Amino acid sequence: MSEPSIFSRILRGEIPSEIIAETENAFAIRDIAPKAPVHLLVIPKTEQYRNVVELAAGDPDLLAEVIGLANAVAAEHAGGDFRLVFNTGSDAGQTVFHVHAHVLGGGLTEGSLG
Ligand code: 5GP
Repeated sequence: MSEPSIFSRILRGEIPSEIIAETENAFAIRDIAPKAPVHLLVIPKTEQYRNVVELAAGDPDLLAEVIGLANAVAAEHAGGDFRLVFNTGSDAGQTVFHVHAHVLGGGLTEGSLG
């Protein structure tokens, strides 16, 4: 077995990070290095899927649960509107290979994808 991901370690309480919301199979935390006024991460509790493509193929219900939780935390913390980003692959900026959604909001640059 490989080492647990940083997000699994947060979920287990081994690394401090407040879990701001959760469902049966997913949880949400604040990103440690925010790139928007509100920058949250929504993460499946399982780390068996490395990216959103694997998650969509392997468990579409869990992907829907992640998106539903993203909507809920955006409503509570970002005023409703949000950008949802799944970095997929290291060349796209993915650094943690335990699938997670970035929820970005709270005032974003108009028209920018950066
Ligand atoms: P990725 O680059 O894989 O799409 O996103 C990983 C994200 O996890 C980054 O935005 C990074 O700031 C965040 N991150 C990495 N380590 C930690 C941590 O220990 N705690 C929290 N809250 N976020 C983390």
